[in-house]
Amino acid sequence: MRDPYFPKSGNGGYDVTHYGLTLDYEPGTRRLVGKAEIEARAERDLSALNLDLKGMEVKSVEVAGKAARFNRSGDHELTVRPRDDLEKGAVFGVVVRYSGAPETITDPDGSKEGWLPTEGGALALGEPTGSMAWFPGNHHPSDKASYDITISVPEGLKAVSNGELRKETRSGGRAVFDWHVGEPMASYVATVAVGDFEMRRSEADGLPVLVAVEPDQVAESEDVIGRIPEVVEWAELNFGPYPFSSTGAIVGREGDAGYALETQNRPVFPGAPGIELLVHELAHQWYGNSVTPESWRDMWLNEGFATYAEWLWAEDHGGDSAQDVFDALYEGDYFDKKADSDAVWAFPPARPPSAAHISDSPVYERGAMVLHKVREAVGDEVFYDILRGWAAGRRHGNADTDDFTAYVEKKAPDEDFSEIWEDWLYGEGRPGSP
Ligand SMILES: [Zn+2]
Repeated sequence: MRDPYFPKSGNGGYDVTHYGLTLDYEPGTRRLVGKAEIEARAERDLSALNLDLKGMEVKSVEVAGKAARFNRSGDHELTVRPRDDLEKGAVFGVVVRYSGAPETITDPDGSKEGWLPTEGGALALGEPTGSMAWFPGNHHPSDKASYDITISVPEGLKAVSNGELRKETRSGGRAVFDWHVGEPMASYVATVAVGDFEMRRSEADGLPVLVAVEPDQVAESEDVIGRIPEVVEWAELNFGPYPFSSTGAIVGREGDAGYALETQNRPVFPGAPGIELLVHELAHQWYGNSVTPESWRDMWLNEGFATYAEWLWAEDHGGDSAQDVFDALYEGDYFDKKADSDAVWAFPPARPPSAAHISDSPVYERGAMVLHKVREAVGDEVFYDILRGWAAGRRHGNADTDDFTAYVEKKAPDEDFSEIWEDWLYGEGRPGSP
């Protein structure tokens, strides 16, 4: 499919089922040597296929064990021509060997993603397109896969990624970290963090918690990070079972990145987060990482839900009620600056005007307001049933806005949601304004 906001990202004709990434990183020279073993299934007969890889030098490509021809074009297309055509339904492996200094990408909204060098290490962040900077793949949220990510770094450093740490070995001055992600993951929430991390393990109701914190952030982040089990248990009550086999966090230094990101299993925070931010990024494990947008147009299904999770947390913990927050936003009293208050109404949450706007306020705050309107219409019992049912029914899959509105309508067949959808989800301007 062609993404309406990032039409050059992702490729048709095949479905990736697994990525095996073997990476060797040298922070001093910023050089990455990588091998990507991609397992996929052909969705039609293929004489060629495209992968997304930005920068880096490709040394060789093999398909089904045979050397394949390849060429690079455009900003990030790696076109591979297998020696033998692939038939529809064929399961095949692609092996790409590559190296270079992975790039930092500036997004249409000006934020930085891709490979971010940090003090003594590096941090890989991929929303929306950054993962193409460090491994070749089908970089679109609609193609999720399992992963094995093995990273070798100079001894003394740690390399943290998604999923569970299977093995940690040392030899010849290198430390090798072997991570396994068993559940489907969209490539934009894959991460690698190389640094001097202190790793701590605990449990949240039987769920393994692995936290990696830069030593100089330990004291400041300890209290909030220590509440991960409490947040996960609260979220399970409201959203249903935690969708993955482990959780945790990666706390880097302020300035490592300009924002936090809900990287799967283990969200990344540049510096110690507040409790609301922790709640937001953990809520994304259900809404975003497990139920993943079909395209970047559906970003509000991520951010509206994660923002509403913050409101629910506050409501349940002696803060403002969701109704209070809704009212303040509606009246323009929520933000200090008038420009921020007005920005909430800049465009409809389900129709950002361009790629530069997919992370703007209408997608977050007004997206959460859509959910509040649904809650108002159906009452708490059905609303929480919708939150849990949406996460359960679409678990480890993809969904778009139409899927969501159809689901809500099915759960409350006697309600008429047309005004909510027309005014709040798709309508221009502040609903009810003259
Ligand atoms: Zn978010």
